[in-house]
Amino acid sequence: MSKIITVTSPLLPSLDDFIPMLKDIWERKWLTNNGHYHQGLEKALADYLGVQYISLFTNGTLPLITALQAMKITGEVITTPYSFVATTHSIWWNGLKPVFVDVEEETGNINPEKIEAAITPHTTAIMPVHVYGTPCNVKRIQEIADIYGLKVIYDAAHAFGVNKDGESILNAGDMSTLSFHATKVYNTVEGGALVCHDAATKKRIDFLKNFGFNGETTVVAPGINSKMDEIRAAYGLLNLKQVDDAIAKRKAIAELYREALKDVPGIRFLKDIEGVRHNYAYFPIFIDEKDYGISRDALYAKLQEHDIYGRRYFYPLISTFSAYKGLESADPKNLPVAHKLADQVLCLPMFAGLDRKCVERVIDVVRNKR
Ligand SMILES: *Cc1c(COP(=O)(O)O)cnc(C)c1O
Repeated sequence: MSKIITVTSPLLPSLDDFIPMLKDIWERKWLTNNGHYHQGLEKALADYLGVQYISLFTNGTLPLITALQAMKITGEVITTPYSFVATTHSIWWNGLKPVFVDVEEETGNINPEKIEAAITPHTTAIMPVHVYGTPCNVKRIQEIADIYGLKVIYDAAHAFGVNKDGESILNAGDMSTLSFHATKVYNTVEGGALVCHDAATKKRIDFLKNFGFNGETTVVAPGINSKMDEIRAAYGLLNLKQVDDAIAKRKAIAELYREALKDVPGIRFLKDIEGVRHNYAYFPIFIDEKDYGISRDALYAKLQEHDIYGRRYFYPLISTFSAYKGLESADPKNLPVAHKLADQVLCLPMFAGLDRKCVERVIDVVRNKR
């Protein structure tokens, strides 16, 4: 059998470069709590991403939970069902009510034109997701938030390094969160971050990720422990040096896929938005069974026969899981576009180390369906 092709594979720093950093950490005997490498990575990421204030976290879910807590969000939060479950879970973990709004067909992002109808007197925030790293319509979302007095927290787990018109997409809204999970464009094994726009808010976030401690004896809120340790911060510094190269390799793969599949009837790609520097985090295709000839699930299975493992991100929708399906806004009639995308989408293998031969194997199966 041929070599297995997975949907993703982690970007790893050189072990030879990592070992001296580990020796240094062993000598310092300072393993966590805002150590040398932690401070270094916060600075380096702020520079690289073009943001002013960033706080590291131990994963990408806790910054979502902490963002809602930091802004004292209450009542209802408007969000999208077309995401990874952590988005809605973070709302649940704050004892808040998620309200699902349908998405745009072209991007998979929350449809701003559907937001106003979902606002009630209890709505206090909007939590959109830059799905696949495609920027949301942040201008329109901010207009609505300003009119109704709502906070905006972007789940930017897919949007590492994404710019629109030369500006980091992470500067939109009140806060943005990142995930540095092993499967993402940039990883610290597990890890994440919360981006905010002023020093006082960063200070508060840093209390909340350390049990709520302000100094030695004062606890300002029931914070959680979500600090990143020195070992992963050092690893993160090394990976940051090669992330541009990784994104360039992803771009080349995306171009191969697009060129080879653009004339296949029944296959649609994401829309290219003008002025966006993309990170090529995923390569989703949307299958229209009528024109393509076989269903998305049939193609998914066909690829597996060839040892190729695509992923159906995002299927099933968050709104169909037991915790949320009883919500009024989870009614499929409220979310027709999200359901359509969830039924059509297949993410093809996409990672920096994917070689051309493997890309051609994937293309061959998708084109020939055999
Ligand atoms: C990966 C991801 C998260 C969660 O990040 P973890 O680091 O795995 O906790 C949240 N939201 C989205 C959209 C993601 O893709």
